[in-house]
Amino acid sequence: MTILKKAKDLQHLLDNWRQKDQNLPAQPHVGEGSADGTQTGIGFVPTMGALHDGHLSLLKTSKSENRVTVCSIFVNPAQFNDPKDFEKYPSTLEQDIYKLETNGCDILFLPSVKEIYPGQLNIKKHYDLGYLETILEGEYRPGHFQGVCMAVERLLAIVLPDNLYLGQKDYQQCMIIKRLIELMGLEKRIQTKICPIVREKDGLAMSSRNMRLKGEQRAKATALYETLIFLKQNINKGSLSELKKEATALLVQKGFKTDYVEIADAGTLKPINEWDSRTNIIGLVAAYVNGVRLIDNMALN
Ligand code: AMP
Repeated sequence: MTILKKAKDLQHLLDNWRQKDQNLPAQPHVGEGSADGTQTGIGFVPTMGALHDGHLSLLKTSKSENRVTVCSIFVNPAQFNDPKDFEKYPSTLEQDIYKLETNGCDILFLPSVKEIYPGQLNIKKHYDLGYLETILEGEYRPGHFQGVCMAVERLLAIVLPDNLYLGQKDYQQCMIIKRLIELMGLEKRIQTKICPIVREKDGLAMSSRNMRLKGEQRAKATALYETLIFLKQNINKGSLSELKKEATALLVQKGFKTDYVEIADAGTLKPINEWDSRTNIIGLVAAYVNGVRLIDNMALN
């Protein structure tokens, strides 16, 4: 695995690689799903490190669909609306490098804050993300998605991947990044691939933040998953407001501070209060376990 810290070194390596790749025949595809059954191009998996099997599932999918896979590790200060959350964000670089290397990552991009934000970090560009940034995560983490876009725009401009791998775990973020790619005019150039949520055996969605949960708190954290299962098992045509209230009460009873328990249109993420039983819907939860903020979601039909 090649490890690079400078954007220009990565661009140089990828430019050389693209030139060589043009002359190679497409290789048979080794995994599931590429549309034409061949393996070409550059796959990109952006992360903030503290890697777990969720991240590695994105890497494996990219490896099966691309000739080269680039992963990045960059803990983006611009997307943390709570500075304490940024300070406490776990860092396990040595283990991350080992995991990436043993899972066949080709290139690790490890930029500094200066490399991603060569100008000043506080000079903020505004991205027109529409209503998506005013609901759910956008509502409870003001400025968060603007910060995500700042880093992802720069990363995409550097890597210019053919395929971008994102996790459904961050459902709203996937929609925001698709919007960003449109704003960048790259929707024909970059395919976005959304990979399923990888969970622990007890249902807890894997997350770098889970490392901060110990003993009893860790055991309690499965309540987010249980809440989503409760929604799925009890969803019926008609009004959803009682069901949402009951699900929220379940979390509150267990001592959680809850930002939201919502049921939304899976395509637009607009909250649904009356369900016609046909629209695809998704349950989304955000809650704190002992000061650690966790999110999860699940398709409900
Ligand atoms: P992060 O390092 O948290 O920024 O995540 C990097 C990428 O991994 C994002 O696209 C996440 O949605 C994805 N991801 C995080 N956790 C999981 C999970 N449990 N299953 C699948 N993908 C995940």
